[in-house]
Amino acid sequence: MGNPLRERRSAAEWSAGSQVIEIAEKLCSFELLSSIVEEDLAALDADKIPADWRDAEISGRLEFGFADAQQMLPLVKCRVSASVDAVCQRCLEVFHLPLEAEADLLLLTLEQDADGYDEFEVWELEESLLRPQDIVEEMLTMALPFSAMHAESGACKALSPEAAVSAEKMTTPFAALREQMAKDNEGSA
Ligand SMILES: [Zn+2]
Repeated sequence: MGNPLRERRSAAEWSAGSQVIEIAEKLCSFELLSSIVEEDLAALDADKIPADWRDAEISGRLEFGFADAQQMLPLVKCRVSASVDAVCQRCLEVFHLPLEAEADLLLLTLEQDADGYDEFEVWELEESLLRPQDIVEEMLTMALPFSAMHAESGACKALSPEAAVSAEKMTTPFAALREQMAKDNEGSA
């Protein structure tokens, strides 16, 4: 059996079948997303590029249906997530960048409008046949941050404990006072 993620059918057909697609893919099956990650990792020395970056897991779920009782407005509920290798723009080290995206998309042709359905986002169908993989790829691409950085400051070398300690030393006169204030707050909480 083929992978439904890569099949092409009309939006009406996907939705009429109430198709549910469980996504369990690797990054390498997404051409555009792979090329973006590859370009980002190219900033690293060759020996620092993770050997398995193409195997990053992409997971999630697509659920097709209709937004309206008349079944004129095909809808797909999308939840996708991934963890790709990326270069931290603060410390220039590689790290696992979590990506998550969630949207309820109306699948509409350019001629269709959907007044009164403002709670949904619109996916414009440029061709008559829809390949679900394209939606997943665009959602993850849009979820990429403009500038990737370690979310945990403890993990980021640019924000290392040593850097914090030296900053602390420079403000020694206030350190004891700050500590006291913290204790007082704890006491009153
Ligand atoms: Zn960092």
